Amino acid sequence: MRQAVWMGLFSLLLAVLVPALLLQPIQEPEPETVALVISPAESKPEPQEAMIVRLKSGQSILELPLEEYLTGVVLSEMPASFELEALKAQAVAARTFALRQMEGGKHPDCDLCSDGSCCQAWNSRETIEQKLGDGWLQYWSKAEEAVQQTAGEVLTYAGQLIDAVYFSCSGGATEAAAAVWGGEVPYLQSVSSWGEEDAPPFHSETAVSLERFRSAILAENPEADLSGPASGWFGELTRTAGGGVETLEIGGRPFSGTSLRTLFGLKSAKFDVAIEEGQIVFQVSGYGHRVGMSQYGANAMAKAGSDYRAILQHYYTGVTIETKT
Ligand SMILES: [Zn+2]
Repeated sequence: MRQAVWMGLFSLLLAVLVPALLLQPIQEPEPETVALVISPAESKPEPQEAMIVRLKSGQSILELPLEEYLTGVVLSEMPASFELEALKAQAVAARTFALRQMEGGKHPDCDLCSDGSCCQAWNSRETIEQKLGDGWLQYWSKAEEAVQQTAGEVLTYAGQLIDAVYFSCSGGATEAAAAVWGGEVPYLQSVSSWGEEDAPPFHSETAVSLERFRSAILAENPEADLSGPASGWFGELTRTAGGGVETLEIGGRPFSGTSLRTLFGLKSAKFDVAIEEGQIVFQVSGYGHRVGMSQYGANAMAKAGSDYRAILQHYYTGVTIETKT
């Protein structure tokens, strides 16, 4: 009887415990957290390939590394004897200009051309050697240094590459883009540019015979009245913020300073006009369109101790210097 009770209890125990054990979920080990952090050794960047510029030079299209192209531009656009900080400012402006053209510029079949009146002046190492003669290697190394010390640096405004225009000599102040080309550009404003007085292009003179002057003006605007003596030809003259000629009334018709610059091959549109000994004489200040960075002004700033960053931020209003990798 007692054995039967024990057997009964044992059966009951089995009946309760076995299903309970079977129903108990099997404890699985916690999965190990997989770290998604890749160690620095595994995240080595791909080696950077040199950016290649497709450059039209004469009839051929050359492909050359950006930095080599820029060395050729610096030595073609700026006197090699200029201060290193001025050459560095030139290198950053030239790099910015080039990258902007590479994003989609004026040439459908290449990135840029080597013509300074269209894109940026560029000459090959061989041509520069011939042009500079003795001591050329010292200048080449200096320009290379200017490019390397500013490697990857470009100018931006509101996150976009700027139109980094530059010119030789302002004659005392630069012009806003709007005054010369008509469109407002926030970073291309008129700024003072001191220290250029000793620069050869600071002052120039262009004399035009009365006959040539008359025929050129009438070809430009046949309605101009140049029938009387030359002393009566000129009327009101208005100037831009940078001191350039905005308009000059000739024979009762307005002519823009930029059109007169083109018409008579003046070095800039900043000029005075006089009638001297039967000639029209233009007394001209500066050289170039005078918008953006003045190269002689940059050199004057560098001589006075400014670095290339201060130079660029003086001539390009409100820009940021960024490194593009
Ligand atoms: Zn071009």
